[in-house]
Amino acid sequence: MYKGIAASSGVVVSKVYKLEHPVLHIERKTSDPESEISKLSIALEKTQRDIETIQKKAVGKLTDEELAIFDAHLMVTQDPEFIGQIEEMIKSEGINAEFAVNEVGGMFISMFEAMDDAYFKERAADIKDVTYRIKCHICNVMIPNLALIDEEVVIVAHDLTPSDTAQLNKAFTKGFATEIGGRTSHSAIMARSLEIPAVVGAGDLLSKCDHGDSIILDALDGVVIIKPTEEEIRHYTNKANRFAEMKQSLKVLKDAESVTTDGHHVELVGNIGTPNDVVGVLNNGGEGVGLYRTEFLYMDATALPTEEEQFEAYKTVLERMKNKPVVVRTLDIGGDKELSYLPFPKEMNPFLGYRAIRLCLDRTDIFRTQLRALLRASLYGNLCIMFPMIATLKEFRDAKAIIEDEKENLIYEGHKVGKYQLGIMVEIPAAAVLADQFAKEVDFMSIGTNDLIQYSMAADRMSEKVAYLYQPYNPSLLRLIKMTIDGGHKEGKWVGMCGEMAGEELAVPVLLGLGLDEFSMSASSILGARKMVRELSFAEMKVMAEKALTLGTAEEVIELIKKSIAK
Ligand code: PEP
Ligand code: MG
Repeated sequence: MYKGIAASSGVVVSKVYKLEHPVLHIERKTSDPESEISKLSIALEKTQRDIETIQKKAVGKLTDEELAIFDAHLMVTQDPEFIGQIEEMIKSEGINAEFAVNEVGGMFISMFEAMDDAYFKERAADIKDVTYRIKCHICNVMIPNLALIDEEVVIVAHDLTPSDTAQLNKAFTKGFATEIGGRTSHSAIMARSLEIPAVVGAGDLLSKCDHGDSIILDALDGVVIIKPTEEEIRHYTNKANRFAEMKQSLKVLKDAESVTTDGHHVELVGNIGTPNDVVGVLNNGGEGVGLYRTEFLYMDATALPTEEEQFEAYKTVLERMKNKPVVVRTLDIGGDKELSYLPFPKEMNPFLGYRAIRLCLDRTDIFRTQLRALLRASLYGNLCIMFPMIATLKEFRDAKAIIEDEKENLIYEGHKVGKYQLGIMVEIPAAAVLADQFAKEVDFMSIGTNDLIQYSMAADRMSEKVAYLYQPYNPSLLRLIKMTIDGGHKEGKWVGMCGEMAGEELAVPVLLGLGLDEFSMSASSILGARKMVRELSFAEMKVMAEKALTLGTAEEVIELIKKSIAK
């Protein structure tokens, strides 16, 4: 049994799919050229079949431009110059096929990499990808590929990149377990928005399992069991059924109001990563989108998304949400989120460095493209634009000035621009402390506790060693939240929270008492939070929250909250 962090709720009994990219050890061997050439041609055929299947499965998920990459891959497998040189080497030197592919592939890769033209540099990546696949087939080594999964599985991986997670097919991926990661790592966040059960940070799993082993994933208590006993399978199948029943019973609250027993209303909204996630928010009775993380649009691409591509994505979300508020966060890249096609400076502390609004105010070309797409999309719904990682008022003013400039440009070009609200994320303590001043200029503020906790405790949110400092219930954090809410309310502005804390069962009562107006969480948490809000008294929670602010430790706060909801 492995203990990890329950990152996205659910209980699954299924089979293992190991996501591991095998390392090949290729040596030169003398061999019969005829049989090596036949191995090569079988491997080429298998590679072509793989590429065609991946391409077919990606239709509808990727843009035409991205799909064209697979055509380029197919062309590599049929290139007479490339294949001819491999065959020639096998024959003239009497050597093994994988070695010849490695040598000739390597030569082509270096040649293309050395070229100045970006187009040819990309071809180097294509050849690298394809030669790896051909070598694996020659050596009979299985290449895992998420797009090829066609039976129900639990994916076991060291970690999943955000784009791996974004490509998971929900029909077959029943859950995933990773060796590293925490509750707020991006793979965990994506798992919640896709509503796929996940346990992360479960330790050394890969060396302990094989493809097809049976596996239990208890993403309620953060447990992974590989090759379970009959008894364990029975126990967890029952647990899975009970969880499904509980989820079913919450469905009656889908259209119910989010109102306390004494008539205080709050908004319960969803966090999304892609336009497809809107379905989950609506199915779970979300009253809006409180955080659309637009960085996934950039991370799933091979080049910066164009204004048109972004416009389509934002418009789709706004239209699907039918006038319910949609908070779109501008590009929050950097820290743990990098783009393969955009070089980042090497920094000692990337989380404290060149990221989010800092990067956007520097690379205004990237920022302006996104803002233009957003402004054009504003006609199609209830848009709120939010800037991430704001530390100073000047940053907000600079960002606002760029928006206004682009608005003028668009109108001059003959476009129409609708209404929108402009807000900031409060995830840096400096902004929380100065919230009353920000509130004079913004339309709203949303507290990003995932980062606010790491910055106020100086504890990296990805580090397991200092995870004990990651304390949402520490009174110091509650005071920062309180300052933000009060600062906003003083100027009549609404204050939300889109960090993971907003959806936690224990956090809802105290945040309610502190006066939070909007709670944004993963779709699957919305109904549970609504049930809770409807059973609580706002007046009582206000008294409890006031008391919490006077305590000294997170443990005392947790105890107080538990007592107050047990009544
Ligand atoms: C946050 O910091 O709380 C937040 C919502 O942003 P992210 O998790 O994307 O950094
Ligand atoms: Mg953040």
